[in-house]
Amino acid sequence: MIPHDKLFIPGPVEVSAKTMAAFSRPMIGHRSEDFKNLYRDVHPKLQKLFATKQPVFLSTSSAWGVMEASIRNLVDRGVLCCMCGAFSDKWFDVARRCGKNAEPLQVDWGKHINPKDVDAKLATGKFDTVVLIHSETSTGVMNPLPEICCTLAKYPDVALVVDTVSSFSGVKIDMDALGIDVMLTGTQKALALPPGFSLFSVSEKALARAEKIPNRGYYFDFIEFKKQQAEWMTQSTPSIGHIHALQSKLAEIFEEGLDARFARHARTNTLVHDWVRRAGFDFFAEEGFRTKTLTCVRNSRGIDVAKLVRDLRTKHHLVIDGGYGPIKGKSFRLSNMGDETEEMVSQLLACLDDVL
Ligand SMILES: *Cc1c(COP(=O)(O)O)cnc(C)c1O
Repeated sequence: MIPHDKLFIPGPVEVSAKTMAAFSRPMIGHRSEDFKNLYRDVHPKLQKLFATKQPVFLSTSSAWGVMEASIRNLVDRGVLCCMCGAFSDKWFDVARRCGKNAEPLQVDWGKHINPKDVDAKLATGKFDTVVLIHSETSTGVMNPLPEICCTLAKYPDVALVVDTVSSFSGVKIDMDALGIDVMLTGTQKALALPPGFSLFSVSEKALARAEKIPNRGYYFDFIEFKKQQAEWMTQSTPSIGHIHALQSKLAEIFEEGLDARFARHARTNTLVHDWVRRAGFDFFAEEGFRTKTLTCVRNSRGIDVAKLVRDLRTKHHLVIDGGYGPIKGKSFRLSNMGDETEEMVSQLLACLDDVL
C-alpha cells in the first residue's frame, strides 16, 4: 500500500489493502447474472450481521441518505427525535426540512437518552416514529438500546429507526429480537470500507407503513428497494466496487467470528479507556454509556488539542480527530473501529504518550 497517514478518526477509518483490492475489481453489469450472484452471496451474511430475517438493502448513498429516507418513508403524524450530539441533533433538522412534524427530546452532549423520557413523550400519542442514534459518534455516548426498545414495545403503532453507523459490527445488535423497524449503517466506520455507501433493513411493520405514505420519491423509496431486492437488484446503478469490497469484508468477519469481533472491539476500547485514565484525562461521555468503538476524550488537562493532532501526524503519521464542532479543542476522539488490533491501538497510545 502507498505510504500514507493512518486514520484513527471515527470515520472514515483505515481501509486495508485487501479491501481496496476488492473495491477495484473489474466492473460487472448491474443487470447481469454476475451482479445477482454478488447480491445473493452477500445477503445471508448481511442478515446474520443485522440478526434479521428481513431483506437487507444496499444504498448508494452515505448513511444520511437512509436517515433522510426513513423520515420520508415512515413519518405521518409526527417524529420524536432523540438528540444527544451532532448527528442526532442534525437528524431533527433533516426531519423538519422534509416538512414533517418533528419534536426534540434533547439532552446535553455527553449524556444519554433516558427510556423514561421516551416513554413520557410517546404517551402523548403525538408520534408514530422515533429516531435514535445508538452510538453518538460526536460525543462517544452509547444509548441504552435494549431498554429503549422495551419502552417502544408498549407502543406497537410507533416505528423505531436506529442509526448504528458507528456501532454496527463492532457491538452486538439484534434487529429482530430488539424489535427495531429500520436499522441502518454506513460503510466507512466499523466495517472499514470506503465511504459513500450504506446498508439497511426494514421490518414488515415499517414496510406496511411506507406503502401508505405519499411522496416517497423513487431513489429512496423503501417499497422500491424491496421490489428490486426480490430480484437481487437495485433501482439504479449501484456502487459495485463497494459491494465487492463488502463481499471481501464479510468473508473476513465470519472467518474471525462475530463474537470474536465484538470481543476484539471491547478489548481495544478498554486499552484506550485505560490510557485515558493513565494520561490524566476524563471521558466526555457519562459513565455506563460509553461506546465501544471510539472514545471521546474530555480535554480535562487543558492541552493544546490542535497541536497534539498536528504533532501526531507529522511525527508518527497517525491521524486523530480534534473534537466535533462546538466541542473542538475541548475534546478529541480516538477510534478503535474496523480492523484495529490490540497491537495497533497500543502503538497509537504509545505515540500519543510520545507527543504529549
Ligand atoms: C458518520 C455518521 C453519520 C453520517 O454518515 P455519512 O456517511 O456522512 O452520511 C451518521 N450517523 C452517525 C452516528 C455517524 O457516526
